[in-house]
Amino acid sequence: MIPAAYAVLDLEAAAHNVQRVRDYAPNAKIMAVIKANGYGHGLLRIAEALQAVDAFAVARVDEGIRLRKAGIKTRIAVLEGFTCAEELDELLHYQLDAVVHSFIQVEILESRAERGRIAIWLKLDTGMNRLGFKPNQFNLVYQRLTQCSIIRQPINLMTHLANADDKQDATTLKQIRWFNDTLATLAPELQLASERSIANSAGILAWQEALTDWVRPGIMLYGISPFSDSTGEQLGLKPLMSLHSRLIAVKRIAKGDKVGYSGTWVCEKPTTLGVAAIGYGDGYPRYAKAGTPVLVNGQRVPLIGRVSMDMITVDLETQPNANPGDPVTLWGNGLAVEEIALCADTIAYTLVCGVTQRVQIVEKTAL
Ligand SMILES: *Cc1c(COP(=O)(O)O)cnc(C)c1O
Repeated sequence: MIPAAYAVLDLEAAAHNVQRVRDYAPNAKIMAVIKANGYGHGLLRIAEALQAVDAFAVARVDEGIRLRKAGIKTRIAVLEGFTCAEELDELLHYQLDAVVHSFIQVEILESRAERGRIAIWLKLDTGMNRLGFKPNQFNLVYQRLTQCSIIRQPINLMTHLANADDKQDATTLKQIRWFNDTLATLAPELQLASERSIANSAGILAWQEALTDWVRPGIMLYGISPFSDSTGEQLGLKPLMSLHSRLIAVKRIAKGDKVGYSGTWVCEKPTTLGVAAIGYGDGYPRYAKAGTPVLVNGQRVPLIGRVSMDMITVDLETQPNANPGDPVTLWGNGLAVEEIALCADTIAYTLVCGVTQRVQIVEKTAL
């Protein structure tokens, strides 16, 4: 019997997507971003599937600790760094690299006497105004950090692109220029020693100028496009995740019948309605609009009515002979998650990250 809600993960696609990163950035080392439970695909599962990369990045210290406790030996950078001495101790104990973006962190590092215990990524804020030092603070901070005995020299340097998914937006080149100009103020031997990192997936795919010593792909490793006008498959990537369910009821409805909470969908002519066992309690987006495509028996049918916690309703006009138990695909297998994201006014990142605990995970290699 088909489980009610399950996601199939094609882990072999991960290696293909890493190869695509290498095609775009042949000279760069790869820091694979696996924060947020590997973008919803499972932190450890993804770490194991991506063994061939040069480093991992996670957002938070506890994500790095989970990887270490599972025996992952690969270099790991913690993108949010640390906010107190206790967290720094955890980074040291588990041998995690820290992103350094604030003066509080600099002061904590300066207060320590150990020698060469931690590698850091000094983050410059080139316009996103999230984490990082402003370019005019850079030289001072860099000098202070080179004096910290606890830091393993040389210091690595990074910034993050805010608009790289918009290929027309001049912001990205401005950010890259600001980063490079700022680093050009360092002594030449320091410039040579420090490794640099700029590009996320959109940077790798659309901005040659962003390719430096290290690239930091996230979403593209999962086979998903960072752009709103293309799918991962159109970029030569292979999606890892597909999301599935099954029909649990099929019935005739009459003209004038209302479907779902608040009766937002009104039947205009008699049709066949299908109920599938998946809803926002599984991570299917509550804001998917009527008309969002769903595959029933591999054929597209439109979502109708509101998405409930455990169920959705679809119009089976084109499949009047469908039966309870028939397979339903919410995304994947020819239905791009990027298309579903557009139908729900969101981005595919939120859909894959949002798949909940209740969804059974099936690894494709094990099928
Ligand atoms: C999440 C993140 C990435 C990866 O971004 P994608 O768009 O998923 O490729 C890279 N760098 C930083 C600092 C991030 O926070």
